[in-house]
Amino acid sequence: MTKIGLEIHCQLTKLESKLFCSCKADYRSLDINTNICPVCIGLPGSLPLLNKNAVEKAAMISIALGCKTPPKIAFFRKNYFYPDLPKNFQITQYNAYGPTSIGSDGKVLIEDKEIRVRRIQLEEDPGRLVYEGTSEKTLLTLIDYNRAGTPLVEIVTEPDFETPKQVRLFLNVLADLVENLGVSDPSLEGALRVDGNISIDKGNRVEIKNVGSFKDIEKALHFEITRQQSLAERGIPIPAETRHWDEARKITVSARSKEEEQDYRYFLEADIPWVLIDSSVIDKLKKNMPESIYSKKERYIKKYGIPLQVAEVLSSDKFYSDLFEQAHNEKNAKEIANIITTDLKGFADTKEQREQLKLTPKHLADLADAIMNNIITRNSGKLALQEIVKSGKPLSEIISSLDLGHVDDKSSLSKIIDDVFSEEEKAVSEAKLNPDTINYLVGKVMRKTKGKADPALTLDIIKKKLDSK
Ligand SMILES: [Zn+2]
Repeated sequence: MTKIGLEIHCQLTKLESKLFCSCKADYRSLDINTNICPVCIGLPGSLPLLNKNAVEKAAMISIALGCKTPPKIAFFRKNYFYPDLPKNFQITQYNAYGPTSIGSDGKVLIEDKEIRVRRIQLEEDPGRLVYEGTSEKTLLTLIDYNRAGTPLVEIVTEPDFETPKQVRLFLNVLADLVENLGVSDPSLEGALRVDGNISIDKGNRVEIKNVGSFKDIEKALHFEITRQQSLAERGIPIPAETRHWDEARKITVSARSKEEEQDYRYFLEADIPWVLIDSSVIDKLKKNMPESIYSKKERYIKKYGIPLQVAEVLSSDKFYSDLFEQAHNEKNAKEIANIITTDLKGFADTKEQREQLKLTPKHLADLADAIMNNIITRNSGKLALQEIVKSGKPLSEIISSLDLGHVDDKSSLSKIIDDVFSEEEKAVSEAKLNPDTINYLVGKVMRKTKGKADPALTLDIIKKKLDSK
């Protein structure tokens, strides 16, 4: 049996400052080694000062994943030597005296499977190593400490996943969740990083590090399952080790034998006192937290009668649900949900597309109302939307400039149908015997009117004309 556990590092990208100093948390656009101070590069005599907002944001993740938050939390030094770690220890959390990290014992449901969250801890991110060429063959390694000390939340799951697919689904849920909470932007490079550990048939645990994307973690896990199975079949023992994911070759490669927890010589960080977390603080956070994706989904279904699949797409994507919330009212909610999840998707799937989008919530509301009031057909609505996302012009202007107005007066529609009938004599005679051919005729009318004909009225007139023939 395959057992997979995850360690996910989630940067709190929405914070102003680093975890223990006032340098910027947003290090991405800055010149190398300019976002640093004595605290985050570990100069002797400097003292860390804990960022209260970081504790609150980490607690929000912990609450959202159903974890317990202890009444007091502690910080520990995790000692190891690596060039990206200026102090030679990382300030992190560790449960040496019972649970003292920001969260423990949570659970998330993925396709009816319960994934237990063992622990959530708040810690500092190390700096970044910049290699010339690949990390294995490089002659030159540079260090950028701009990232050192930025706030990171580590989420550790129990080895409850049985397939790489479950892992991917869980990561998608998690990315949606931290975005929805407004604590992190998962689309930023390095904002969500995943290590996986995997064992088959009670064999040794192999850790996979260095995986850049969610797609790659799924591939890396598939590769490991095949590799370990083939070793086991040949009777070769599987060593407990850390392996790196080689993105170019799409394989995992042995990195080093794995450190044991005791190698890190954890001890209490004496420069940061224990932090008391009153239950009233947790209550307040819960009260002010944005609605969870689950409850949003339920509300969309129950209150507006939006179908489950549409509600799922809408609730799990913050961009879409924000648009929906700002655009809808009681009457047009269903129509707006429809427009967003069928017509708008495709124009607004990527971050770049979203940045260029000229669409406002008012556009959506106008569009839904125009369709519901029979001013334009659903088909014309699609054409109008194509124009809105590009130009941002008001809907009324687009309807007249593209001539999208509805053809719903009987006499002009009747004339068009007569034209179609004389062009399609064979289909007309067949239609009396074969009802399916009627749809073909409706399609012809739609094409002639560029999708502007009212479908129900068209069908009605066609049937009447056929009956009288
Ligand atoms: Zn600093």
